[in-house]
Amino acid sequence: MKKFTADYVYTVEDKEPIPNGLVVTDDDGKILSITSYSGDNNKDVIYHKGVIVPGFINSHCHLELSHLKGKIKEKEGLPSFIKNVIAIRNVAEAEIEKAMIAADKQMQKNGIVGVGDISNTVISADIKAKSPIRYHTFVEMVGLDPAKSQELITKADALKSKFEHSGSASITLHASYTLSKALVKDLRRYCKNEKNLISLHSQENEDENAFYRYKTGAFVQLYEDLGINLDYFVAMSKNTLQAIVPLLPQDQNVLLVHNTFTTLKDVYMLRRFNVDIFWCFCPGANLYIENTMPNFKFFEKSGYLATLGTDSLASNHSLSILDEMKLVQKSGRGISFDEMLEWATINGAKFFGWDSELGSIKKGKTPGLNLITNFKDGHITPKSEVVKLI
Ligand SMILES: [Zn+2]
Repeated sequence: MKKFTADYVYTVEDKEPIPNGLVVTDDDGKILSITSYSGDNNKDVIYHKGVIVPGFINSHCHLELSHLKGKIKEKEGLPSFIKNVIAIRNVAEAEIEKAMIAADKQMQKNGIVGVGDISNTVISADIKAKSPIRYHTFVEMVGLDPAKSQELITKADALKSKFEHSGSASITLHASYTLSKALVKDLRRYCKNEKNLISLHSQENEDENAFYRYKTGAFVQLYEDLGINLDYFVAMSKNTLQAIVPLLPQDQNVLLVHNTFTTLKDVYMLRRFNVDIFWCFCPGANLYIENTMPNFKFFEKSGYLATLGTDSLASNHSLSILDEMKLVQKSGRGISFDEMLEWATINGAKFFGWDSELGSIKKGKTPGLNLITNFKDGHITPKSEVVKLI
């Protein structure tokens, strides 16, 4: 049995944090009780300065790109970033594996207990299987050619089965600018028979909208540079959200990732469709690639839950949910610590269906416990650090 106390315990279940909260767990980290600590001299109780919060959920990562840390120049925009990833991602397998193992360890150290990870190959499967982190793998499909959609689904489904030993897995779409309507339709058909979580990189760059509305902008140039024929792509006079969301499966959780250029109008528009949307913000990657961040406040109006992701080390300096929270706070959009903490814990757990075990400090759950240090007046500070307690 272990006993932890700190200045405050944020359970995420209760509206208010518990001053001098005492969390008792068994040796496997299962929560036995949460009470207020009376302060009597109990040698078993470990006191921590700071606040105790549940383990973090990182809703969006690409372990496969970990070896690209520091290799791509910052703030050059998404089309240039994609071109660079394609050009330099293929190196010796041993180098990629070494970087993925280090990335997984870094996430453990940073108090992350669950990860949604995008995969294009099988290379991360054994690392995920061995890690104490709970992984969901999104096997990603990239393809604008409608004639190839069924072939892509078959391939993705085969790759998905190779992740069975490493946690849950689903097949998913990469981004609006790399899919065809036929692919989304085929995915809908695929989803009819099984639970299949969907993730979509969405409005990460303004040119995505120009590409969809008018077939102009940097993506047309990118495809030209890559020698990809765009004849079958027809402009839709709608931005990517307006065009794609109505086509998505209605009975699956859908994670829209980035949302950097999503407008308030888009947010209101989404409420018309019966799709189970979750937002995922990756502020570190947005600053790295586009040097901007979403207007986080808009999304409160949607009624959908928000989550946080680190994206990959190709577009971030760390894999730390606390670092992402610091950036949200720094954006000055008025998001409270309590709200951000829900993004960082229970909302991601709900998206992945892990909330009966992870995401909040509740009797019977095994959520992991993190200490956040240098916490002041209900806020994290630039000096705050995360210490994984269990
Ligand atoms: Zn991503």
